[in-house]
Amino acid sequence: MESNQLLQIAQEFGSPVYVYDAEKIATQYHRLTNAFSKVEKLRINYAVKALSNVSILKLFKQLGSGLDTVSIQEVQLGLHAGFDPQNIIYTPNGVSMDEIEQVAALGVQINIDNLSILEQFGAKHPKTPVCIRINPHVMAGGNSNISVGHIDSKFGISIHQLPHILRIVENTGMHINGIHMHTGSDILDIEVFLYAAEILFDTAKHFKELDFIDFGSGFKVPYKKGDIETNVEELGKKLTRRFLAFEKEYGRELTLAFEPGKFLVSEAGYFLAKVNVVKQTTSTVFAGIDTGFNHLIRPMFYGSEHYIENISHPKGKERFYSVVGYICETDTFATNRRIAEIKEGDILSFRNAGAYCFSMSSNYNSRYKPAEILWKDGKAQLIRQRETFEDLLKNQIEIDL
Ligand SMILES: *Cc1c(COP(=O)(O)O)cnc(C)c1O
Repeated sequence: MESNQLLQIAQEFGSPVYVYDAEKIATQYHRLTNAFSKVEKLRINYAVKALSNVSILKLFKQLGSGLDTVSIQEVQLGLHAGFDPQNIIYTPNGVSMDEIEQVAALGVQINIDNLSILEQFGAKHPKTPVCIRINPHVMAGGNSNISVGHIDSKFGISIHQLPHILRIVENTGMHINGIHMHTGSDILDIEVFLYAAEILFDTAKHFKELDFIDFGSGFKVPYKKGDIETNVEELGKKLTRRFLAFEKEYGRELTLAFEPGKFLVSEAGYFLAKVNVVKQTTSTVFAGIDTGFNHLIRPMFYGSEHYIENISHPKGKERFYSVVGYICETDTFATNRRIAEIKEGDILSFRNAGAYCFSMSSNYNSRYKPAEILWKDGKAQLIRQRETFEDLLKNQIEIDL
């Protein structure tokens, strides 16, 4: 999107505000489907937790996507947005047997990631098809917080426990219709991904009635200049070849599934905030903006570097800034960042604000959650209004004291 379009949105709807570019979402979706165009049955299940606004879910429905969900509430949002239950997969971690049964009863594909629930569920509901989440123990990323495939991860059933899985399946007579992996949020290397895929193919051979193999996600998108990005076109070529060969060997038609969140929505998002104060100290110049980690926690939580530009004065001379929030706690978005000279009242735009931004926001410091805007066909439409004071009080019960 152009800076002047974003600036107009900030003027019309106020700040802080999230803006999502529908066209960019569609472009990313089609990049992925094009990369795997030789696969007969391809399923993209958008990971709802990245950005769960119902209008965004409806956009994905229009594109032909399914959904990947991690809670029964995300399932309900998907159903509310008009998705058929059979186009939703539910991949929770550490949730109760009770919730899994409720989701299965809705007709949603369930994906189980521990032996205890697998055994309980299989014994009780042998007819309900179940997908199994495998942990292939592959370190896909550099940061152990986001590489969930490694040995200490809480996610998935260890590949080393395959004999136990097979025993449970045999004893319960349950129907395993899918095999799944999700090795974390940052696949740095296609070869690492393909290596994990081989483990999944080997595992798949042990199950005779599979309908799909789900390769999860972990596609990387660039946050700043020079960042690497998963080459989905190259991955498409290499994995398609392997998948088609495996399908032949397996002797049954299979769906190839992915469940990206970040890849589909990260770059489509912009977060706009106003500079309340420019504060010079003995060591730096702070630009204090009208938001904080209550609205955008990624820089503080994950150390993410979101590119920031001054869209009010984009042509100004660049200076070094520390961009900080208004939360009464250290909440630094950027340090020593070169940004076109900032004046109080300027609007700063954060890039890559589509994934894990609004969906991780909170009311800390009793601030309202921001508004969300969908930019589609050259029009800005409000898809979530800014909260009001009523929202802060909504569920509070004021007792007599
Ligand atoms: C979060 C999550 C995803 C999406 O990951 P991205 O890095 O956003 O693509 C996919 N699958 C599962 C099971 C997840 O928990």
